[in-house]
Amino acid sequence: MIIGVPKEIKNNENRVGLTPGGVFELTKRGHTVYVQKTAGEHSGFTDAIYEDAGAAILDTIEEVYAIAEMIVKVKEPIEPEYDLVKENQIVFTYFHFASSEALTQAMLKSKSVCIAYETVEESDRSLPLLTPMSEVAGRMAIQQGARYLEKPVKGRGVLLGGVPGVTPGKVLVLGAGVVGIQAAKMAAGLGAHVTILDISMKRLRYVNDIMPPHVVTEFSNEFNIRRHIKTHDLIIGGVLIPGAKAPKLITRDMLKDMRPGTVIVDVAVDQGGCVETSRPTTHEDPVFIIDDVVHYCVANMPGAVPYTSTVALTNVTLPYVLKLAEKGWTRACKDHLDLQKGLSIIKGEVVYEEISEAFDLPF
Ligand code: NAD
Repeated sequence: MIIGVPKEIKNNENRVGLTPGGVFELTKRGHTVYVQKTAGEHSGFTDAIYEDAGAAILDTIEEVYAIAEMIVKVKEPIEPEYDLVKENQIVFTYFHFASSEALTQAMLKSKSVCIAYETVEESDRSLPLLTPMSEVAGRMAIQQGARYLEKPVKGRGVLLGGVPGVTPGKVLVLGAGVVGIQAAKMAAGLGAHVTILDISMKRLRYVNDIMPPHVVTEFSNEFNIRRHIKTHDLIIGGVLIPGAKAPKLITRDMLKDMRPGTVIVDVAVDQGGCVETSRPTTHEDPVFIIDDVVHYCVANMPGAVPYTSTVALTNVTLPYVLKLAEKGWTRACKDHLDLQKGLSIIKGEVVYEEISEAFDLPF
């Protein structure tokens, strides 16, 4: 199969759809890979490294879309790419169709085969192509939280790990899913005291089994949250109710109960946030302050660490790319039910219920 890797053109997107390692795996199996010039530069992969791995470099995005039977990328195509996607072409990427009717209509019109990373689903209902980005965001939440606790950026002036003779900082983690566990692990590693809350006893039991004793679990309810926000320095929002907006666990009135300089990192902001006062921010302007509480609400946290994020993402996408290249999309999706769940639009028809519901389209 001929595979094309265009350079991402969405604002601030520095990841790339395939690493040189992925190119190597594909070309050694007899597939042809075209990578757009400088597509990997922000992730640390030069054109020369791609060529060494077996790719051919093309100058323009138009050439990549024109030649490829399958496009492998990171973000959904944006407007300038809409007309480049061609009939029968497989497009394997994050789409998040339900949030854009324009994208949905453009892909319907293209008559391509759109397979969305975010809905590829394993039999235990886990979403393998979303997990690594939550891992990145969860770990990064502590890195960013620790930084914004510093006084010059209006934090409480607390060093998370403390020092001998001084108690360490306290981190409250809302949600013991992928984000929450990675955040708790990082905070615990720094020596902070960690309290992690969830409504799932199964998750709390798991955390209790694997974490050191300075990570304590509690059931998530309003009473416990109101109690803990008064004493914790850093609060991480990592809750998710699949397919719904995040519940507002911290309401506006609760901010006055926090100490000045408390930092909230609301990772769940991409689903509306679990803090009433959250609104999405960017890496250029990541924080804002309300009632002396610092809010960090960057909606695409992994974008700041493109090397780690690209490798983490392609580790999990490559096995599917290989299946699609080997078998073609029809056979691959028939043989692998997890991949089949990613099918969203096939040659002008919506095949994923949530997309048809979102825009009242036939299904
Ligand atoms: P997950 O499904 O692994 O974990 C979510 C957890 O929240 C679950 O354990 C669930 O039981 C728990 N939960 C639900 N309601 C709760 C409540 N009322 N109180 C406490 N816990 C509750 O999800 P995840 O992969 O960890 O993702 C968490 C959020 O982070 C999602 O919204 C995801 O989209 C977001 N995210 C954001 C970024 C970013 O860059 N900002 C990156 C990756 C993920």
